Amino acid sequence: MPELTAEGILDSSPRMDLETRFKFGCGPGMACFNSCCRDVSILLSPYDVLRLKNALRMDSSEFLEKYTLTMRSQDKQIPVVLLRMDEQTRKCPLVRESGCSVYAHRPWACRMYPLGMAEPKGPNAAAGRFYFLVEEQLCKGHGAGREHSVREWIESQKLDPFDQMQAPFLELMSHPGWDAAEPMSQEKLAMYFMSLYDLDRFRRFVMETRFLELFEVDETRREAIATDDEELLELAIDWLAYSLFHEKRMKLKTQVVVHEPSGMGMSSASQSPG
Ligand code: SF4
Ligand code: SF4
Repeated sequence: MPELTAEGILDSSPRMDLETRFKFGCGPGMACFNSCCRDVSILLSPYDVLRLKNALRMDSSEFLEKYTLTMRSQDKQIPVVLLRMDEQTRKCPLVRESGCSVYAHRPWACRMYPLGMAEPKGPNAAAGRFYFLVEEQLCKGHGAGREHSVREWIESQKLDPFDQMQAPFLELMSHPGWDAAEPMSQEKLAMYFMSLYDLDRFRRFVMETRFLELFEVDETRREAIATDDEELLELAIDWLAYSLFHEKRMKLKTQVVVHEPSGMGMSSASQSPG
């Protein structure tokens, strides 16, 4: 079995493409039912957090506090969010005897399992994308059930909206600006975390500071971000690309006189809106 590290996967996992077929079955009748929801590292994308906090009808700050751990990526020290396992049982806090309690809104990684996806680093990474089987002894589904192609699996797990919402986020994560000699300030990293993951707080930041006075945001977008989390997440990514990497994704209103911007490109942006 290949070692489950990035290097192990890249070196030794048989690479699968969308048409590769594999046999896999899963369901409540399996002896291993729910074993895969214990002691796992599940990275949550901003869209995963959005789906889960809405499924649980929670404010994003409350969700992050109760269900997640925040760490820093080893290479660039970017904040990353993981689903927090129960300290005693090591189970996912969202698993019940009957299965996943948020099944329709479960994260990308849970949908993909037992498949993983990898892309080589560097330009044109998506072209080198491949899939691989995560074969763990605890999972009795391998070789059981029916045959699927990778493409069929991805369709059956309804991964499309996750992939669509994830693409601009992945682009932001791999922006060359992260490799600048000067490390990102703590203030900017805090803003990055809040804008992407603590979406309800980001909404208050947009609505209750001078954000809308300073930036051109058309009426349709203004109305949408007031209630639509997906629109708000798109705005958050545009705003971060602008304020962290000077991408022309936001436009200052012409009548606004901007003094020396703070860390995030607007004087009030570094303050919590609350
Ligand atoms: S979110 Fe659902 S599918 Fe994912 S680990 Fe938790 S219980 Fe399992
Ligand atoms: S361990 Fe494998 S077969 Fe068992 S419930 Fe989890 S995914 Fe399904």
